[in-house]
Parts: sequence; structure tokens; C-alpha cells
Amino acid sequence: MLTWKNVMDFAVNGNPKPDKRVEKTDAEWREVLTPEQFKIARAKGTEAPGTGALCSVYEEGQYNCVCCNTPLFDSSIKFESSSGWPSFTQPIKENAIKYEKDTTFGMVRVEVMCNVCDAHLGHVFPDGPQPSGLRYCVNSESMTMDTSHKEV
Ligand SMILES: [Zn+2]
Repeated sequence: MLTWKNVMDFAVNGNPKPDKRVEKTDAEWREVLTPEQFKIARAKGTEAPGTGALCSVYEEGQYNCVCCNTPLFDSSIKFESSSGWPSFTQPIKENAIKYEKDTTFGMVRVEVMCNVCDAHLGHVFPDGPQPSGLRYCVNSESMTMDTSHKEV
């Protein structure tokens, strides 16, 4: 289980190696994404709180990267944070997510990205529920839900 200490270590000293890499140009991403998905996932945008399609979805399944379809989170680790964005306490796999320090808007935050294609997902904060204490705050537009993968 990852904790804030692991997250800081990844952000400062380097991220875990992904299983594979997917790299495309912006023009190629624009062909496969909607304008809104492109704005959030490739241009580091943020959807307005409470507007994301996946905020109020509690169906069992996997949350995959909207760009490269890599599984990122599982419905069993989703929780209601009332932040207005889908929130998770852990990634589906330790090397699914890439972490980077983000100092925009005069704040020090940790940006979370897909470790396979660098899609912007959102941020992770150290104020989540125990035992991990992590809150991955993720844009709905950065993910697609795959309900064919249910936990048994
Ligand atoms: Zn991806």
C-alpha cells in the first residue's frame, strides 16, 4: 500500500517503471479524444467540481486512462470525498501512476499522471481516509469506466 511518504519519494526521486509506454503527438491524441478530454488529459485542464460524469458512479469496475486505456483505479478504492471529483485512496497497481511536483497557482501540490502515456489525471493529497491517508482527486474526463472487470 502506498502512503504519502512513497508519493513524495516518487515525486522527488523518480517514478516506478511502467509496464509499457504509449507516446503520441498532440495531433494524434486530438484524433482519438473529444476536445474536452484533450483539454483535461493532454493540456492539464481541470473540470469544474461536481460536473464530472464519474462523480456519482459507484458501479463496480475499473477506471481506465481515457488516452491509452491502462487500468488506473478500481471501484473498490473509490470513496466519497465531497470534493466534486472522483476520489480514490490507492492506484490499482503501484506503477500505474506517475507523480510530479506541481507548483502552479502558488501552491505546492503533487500532480498525478498516467504512467504509461503521461495523461494528466489530477492531484493526490495527504488528507484521505486511513489506512493509506491518500486522496487521489481525479478528473472524470481523464478516465473511462470498464464495468466488464469486476472484482471477485
Ligand atoms: Zn494513459
